[in-house]
Amino acid sequence: MTLRGRLTAAFLAVVLGPVLLGAFFVGSTMSALDRGRSTERLGLAAAGVRTSVDALCQQLRAAADAVALVADPAARPGAATQVVGRGLAAAVRVTDTAGRTTYVTPGGPDEPWQDCSGDPSAAGPVRALAARVQLRDPAGADLGTVAAAQPVDPAFVARLAAVTGVAVTLLDHAAGPVRVTHTTENRGVRPAVLAAADRVDGDRVTETADGRYVRRAGPAPGQPLPLVLSVPGERPPGLYAALVAAVVLAALLAVLAAGRLARVTTRPLVELAGAVDRVAHGDLNTRVPVRSRDEIGRLALAFNRMTRETGTYVTALTSSRDQLRGHLAVLGDTLASTHDLQRILRVILHSAIAATGARAGAVLLLDAGGVLVGQCAEGLEGRWPAADPTDAATLRVPVGAGVVGAVVATGEPLRGRWEPATAPTGEPLCETYIAVPFAAPGAAELGGRGGPDRPGHPPADADGDGGGAAGGTLGVLALYDRVGADEFDDDDLETLRTLAGHAAVAVDNVRVHEEAQRLSLTDPLTGLWNYRYLRESIRREVERANRFGRMLSVLALDLDRFKDVNDTWGHAAGDAVLVEFARRVRGEIREVDLAFRHGGEEFVVLLPETDARGAAIVAERLGAVVRGGPVPVDGHSGEPVLVPVTVSIGIAVYPDHAATGQQVLDAADDALYAAKAAGRDGYRLAQPPDPTPTQEIPVVAGAVSPPDGLPRAGAVDAAAGPPGGASSGPHPPRQSRGR
Ligand code: GH3
Ligand code: MG
Ligand code: MG
Repeated sequence: MTLRGRLTAAFLAVVLGPVLLGAFFVGSTMSALDRGRSTERLGLAAAGVRTSVDALCQQLRAAADAVALVADPAARPGAATQVVGRGLAAAVRVTDTAGRTTYVTPGGPDEPWQDCSGDPSAAGPVRALAARVQLRDPAGADLGTVAAAQPVDPAFVARLAAVTGVAVTLLDHAAGPVRVTHTTENRGVRPAVLAAADRVDGDRVTETADGRYVRRAGPAPGQPLPLVLSVPGERPPGLYAALVAAVVLAALLAVLAAGRLARVTTRPLVELAGAVDRVAHGDLNTRVPVRSRDEIGRLALAFNRMTRETGTYVTALTSSRDQLRGHLAVLGDTLASTHDLQRILRVILHSAIAATGARAGAVLLLDAGGVLVGQCAEGLEGRWPAADPTDAATLRVPVGAGVVGAVVATGEPLRGRWEPATAPTGEPLCETYIAVPFAAPGAAELGGRGGPDRPGHPPADADGDGGGAAGGTLGVLALYDRVGADEFDDDDLETLRTLAGHAAVAVDNVRVHEEAQRLSLTDPLTGLWNYRYLRESIRREVERANRFGRMLSVLALDLDRFKDVNDTWGHAAGDAVLVEFARRVRGEIREVDLAFRHGGEEFVVLLPETDARGAAIVAERLGAVVRGGPVPVDGHSGEPVLVPVTVSIGIAVYPDHAATGQQVLDAADDALYAAKAAGRDGYRLAQPPDPTPTQEIPVVAGAVSPPDGLPRAGAVDAAAGPPGGASSGPHPPRQSRGR
């Protein structure tokens, strides 16, 4: 059953109960009053009837007495006629002792006559009422009777009715169902009255269905006529109908009122239920009308406020989600499209700040010396006193120091809050902080990936992990001052872990990429650049020399009689000689110079910004350093053996000897061949292709270089390095920069 139905039913019960009770009370009271009054009226009428009949009987007795007092039997008829004539009786009858009628006045009522003294004289209808007296002679002997009668006819009954004011019915004396002799009842009510009369006796009063009250009056001593008296009830006609109508009307009105009341009461609830349903389906713009200030009105107001605020909240969430999505898209694009570590870390930091609502943050990477170095920073201007706000790299924190140092040392994230006044020194000025470490993927199993060796130079001592850092930790992502003054929470920590994971992958990717690049461009045995990188380098260096109008020298080197070393001491010893040779070459050249293993025991050295004279000096030094110390190798039975080594060198200079990279290489090869032909362990300069002699000072083949102190070739001092340095170009690993 609906709430509306229940409310309607309750209202009906409350309203209709009293209405029904009232109607019942009114009905029963009226009915009791009516009955009482009618009973009283009928009682009075019965008494009236008795009085009238009694008076008539006395009058008839007096008339009979008057006749009986006439002593002369012959004079009696005259006396009787006189009595009748005076209207004292309608008829007089004289009977003898045997009961035979001796005289009767003419025109009297029909027999039987009901005797006033009581007992019904006969069965059947009463025709007359008679008083009888004894007729005696003077001696007192019985002579018969004299009866005086008055007819009991409709006029008589009507007179009784008129005297008593009630309807009067005269019954006959027959046994069985009552039969009417005369009546003043209306024809229409007669049967009901008779039926009622049949049910009562004595003084009792009964009521007919149409509201008449009925009682008997006689036969009784002193009133021998069987009469029925009836009066109409004094109840207003149609009282019950009116009451029923009133109840029905009240019920009708109550139903209407209850329905309306229930609707008014439940409509806001129905609206509210509908609105809640719509909200459940996601429509947060739903509002319900506020129709009143009552409890339901307050509920509607609260509901509207709730949906409004939820809507605002959802909008804010959606926009921050969209923002985050944007950041993730940028992050994804950046990760996918570049190996620019600084840029990737900047985007990661930016995403972390946007995702957590921090005001500032930084990404620091662990360097080889166990110091965390800032890679990028946001919003830290003026917050980190030790650092230069324009250069994140000035943000340097030793492992173990402060929050970020501790995070890297333990490998566990940290977050918390300082009171601004109690912020530890060395930390940025902020109230809340969170710092999450990131480690190379798989670092835990591998125990940390070693730093890449740098070709052309000996590997650095450190392996990339700072002293004291937790295994594999690459760096730390730190954020400061969460907007809203709340502390960073678990969700922030989770977000930061994810982003730090990205940072770790990015750093690792870049390192792997650099490593792969390096491996693809270096010779695994000697660590020198390989032939592939030679081709690229010579093209680039020729182009640079051409653009800036500088010179470029190329040395082609080939170990002398190296086959003999292999043949005598084995291939492994040959390899050891090659490694040692490469090490010595590396030690003799400038940082901007590049050394390549061309193949087998042939090598190339590029000397940017160097003319033939400078190249000759380098060739001389190289020859000397190789020649200068025999190389120790393992002998046939493992004992150390010293192998003397020499090298022949050909020199070619761009643009003096060739116009392209390949040509200058070929020219250097030709010069090398010449050096070999000239007896080895020396160098030769290439011949100019043009027969016209160049302005270059010819260097005598096989000449021994002057002792140290000769000026270096080229315009730029070797120590300072050329403008644009060797580090530019298509990502060659920096060969000679310190780490
Ligand atoms: P020269 O150059 O003075 O004319 O005589 P050579 O004996 O050095 O002659 P050549 O340059 O033609 O010989 C090259 C030899 O170098 C052949 C091979 O045995 C040796 N060789 C080439 N590559 C390697 C290498 O990677 N390891 C070792 N151990 N030997 C190599
Ligand atoms: Mg060779
Ligand atoms: Mg050789």
